[in-house]
Amino acid sequence: MKREQGNELRQNSPSESPEGLFQLPAYYPLTKKFKSELRQLNPAKTIDSVIKETRSALMETLFEYIDNQAQQGIEQVSKGNIAAEAYEKTKKLKYKEDPVLLRGKRVLEKLNQTRRRQATYLAAFQKARTEILDRRDLELSLEDLERYAHMEDIPSQVHDLYQEVLSANVTESASANELLVKTETTEIDKKLFVAINPTEPIPFNDQEDDDEIEVGGGKVNLTCPISRLIMKNPVKNKKCGHTYDKASLANYNSTDCPECGATIQKSELVEDTLMKIRIACYERDQKLRELYKTKVDEDIDRL
Ligand SMILES: [Zn+2]
Repeated sequence: MKREQGNELRQNSPSESPEGLFQLPAYYPLTKKFKSELRQLNPAKTIDSVIKETRSALMETLFEYIDNQAQQGIEQVSKGNIAAEAYEKTKKLKYKEDPVLLRGKRVLEKLNQTRRRQATYLAAFQKARTEILDRRDLELSLEDLERYAHMEDIPSQVHDLYQEVLSANVTESASANELLVKTETTEIDKKLFVAINPTEPIPFNDQEDDDEIEVGGGKVNLTCPISRLIMKNPVKNKKCGHTYDKASLANYNSTDCPECGATIQKSELVEDTLMKIRIACYERDQKLRELYKTKVDEDIDRL
């Protein structure tokens, strides 16, 4: 009997509700406690660093793999099992077709995509959160109950708001993300290429990037234009694209680029990471050549 009565009451529209009875609010303002918890929530910060760590660990593994391959190749050339020219040819093929490198590159690209997508979700969350925290709700009180019960302009639910912001963010950042992933993946490609071919110019340069400056014979110069020695800490002048050794630049008593005369400004100098890899891998190959040369000589002496 009591139950039926309840049903009847619930079916009444607000205007007909009997005098003195509560009507539940159409909208509940967020409590201070919830707002402070929301403020502290940071869902994706660690994911980004995990992705970055995974990416550099995989890069290290691929570099080690390339080092091992170089070791085997140079050993074979020293022993006369492969001609030097044939070995140079296999290096270019290796960069394009080696299954381990291809698989590694695919994983790295996926990691880059995940990282960018993650950033989009985080941005949407932060935007939705700011919007929610900025709401100037009055606290729910008995006096305001009536106001909340008849509220017409009801703010979006937290979940709906997030979905709304997210879908806008995903569309907005899709093409920008694609471009960033492409740039990052090309950057990885370049690093792997120069680790295999330390003095070869990059065969797939994007137009906007005047990274690589070739010298005679189509090789990339690894020496500093100031000291004429192989560089140790290469820094690139963003203005003209020329690279110098940091130490010789410190002793250089001019502000003109020795190659082209462009101004050298401290704020325009950046570490040339690609050149650094070239130099390290060039020296690796030189050391291996010497090592196997002496080994082969010793073997011949023993005969
Ligand atoms: Zn220059």
